[in-house]
Amino acid sequence: DTFWRNLEPQAPDALLAIIRHYREDSRPGKIDLGVGIYRDEQGRTPVMAAAKAAEGLLWQTQPTKAYLGAEGDVVYTALLAQLALGESLARSDRLVGVQTPGGTGALRLGAELLARASPGATVWTSEPTWPNHGPIFTQAGLRMRTHRYYRAGDREVDVHGMLADLAHARPGDVILLQASCHNPTGATLGPADWRQIAGLCERKGLTPFLDLAYQGLGDGLEEDAAATRLLLNELPDALVAYSCDKNFGLYRDRVGALWVQSESSERSDAVYSNMLALARSLWSMPPDHGAAVVRTVLEADDLRAKWSAELDTMRGRINALREALGASHPALAPLARQRGMFALLPLAPAQIAALRAERGVYMAGNGRINLCGLTLATVPDLLDALRHYLP
Ligand code: PMP
Repeated sequence: DTFWRNLEPQAPDALLAIIRHYREDSRPGKIDLGVGIYRDEQGRTPVMAAAKAAEGLLWQTQPTKAYLGAEGDVVYTALLAQLALGESLARSDRLVGVQTPGGTGALRLGAELLARASPGATVWTSEPTWPNHGPIFTQAGLRMRTHRYYRAGDREVDVHGMLADLAHARPGDVILLQASCHNPTGATLGPADWRQIAGLCERKGLTPFLDLAYQGLGDGLEEDAAATRLLLNELPDALVAYSCDKNFGLYRDRVGALWVQSESSERSDAVYSNMLALARSLWSMPPDHGAAVVRTVLEADDLRAKWSAELDTMRGRINALREALGASHPALAPLARQRGMFALLPLAPAQIAALRAERGVYMAGNGRINLCGLTLATVPDLLDALRHYLP
């Protein structure tokens, strides 16, 4: 046992422990607000009907499973670029993209590309942010700093604090920005805020890295992509990490893409060849099945319409829960203005532990809840449990 002696044991994923405790809890009224995925009104995470239909078509007609290249399925990436970035950006010869294993793979490939292009670059993230952002970028050798994002007092975006902190960024630094449906706060930047961020990037020579993991689950497909498109239109250089895992319900199939914009098509050629070289050493090529499902859905008008209607239903459910919770208690009013599956409840760690032990209400240790763990019928149960804790 000498070879591994330098390895320190690592803490397990805290959320997985919560999920296990929830499963072992036999109380009938227990509520799971800890999960990170969409659930319907019956508490299920079904394969979307459009995805099932696409899988049927693939099963019948897919002619081969021979290798593709490190870029993955180029038809998938092109169709997804139109969906995410719109027609004109998708056509730009300053933009290159590859299929990746999920949004995580896109972020990691982007991080490796940044480290290659500019080894000393600092990547800025919001505090708080998705817990995997830190490890993804530091593992690639980049330095990280955080900026303010969320004001715990009124639970709104702290744009002033964000811009003040980012004023300390140096030219060449990168800002990782969640494009919509901020995880974990749900607090959302408005169009004027995004224009200020674009202006700051331009003035200071900062490169935005958009993390677009929830397109269509906030205000709508076009609306949720608006900030990403604005930044790409306003700035020479940018990166976009995309995940299809939530909006197509394909989680474990690992479906994503990374796009990189540069100021000229000549630069883009060099960028693209580096993306392919890095992808080859990371995963050789991305898994095909989920991307083939997305391509099949986006290629066929009927499947695309079916998918888009299912996505509308998902978004409608999330936003109906936000309305119901927001209207139920003054302390929860900000939830109605926020977007996406997640929100932070203003609870202390001891209160979060007590809710778990005494009421069977499970949430992450920072008070993050996934609204999809609720149904309109269980909203009053949650309120009853929170009664003593909300200000
Ligand atoms: N970015 C954010 C903000 C996320 O919340 C997630 C998923 N939890 C991802 C990226 C990664 O998604 P994927 O499962 O596609 O890797």
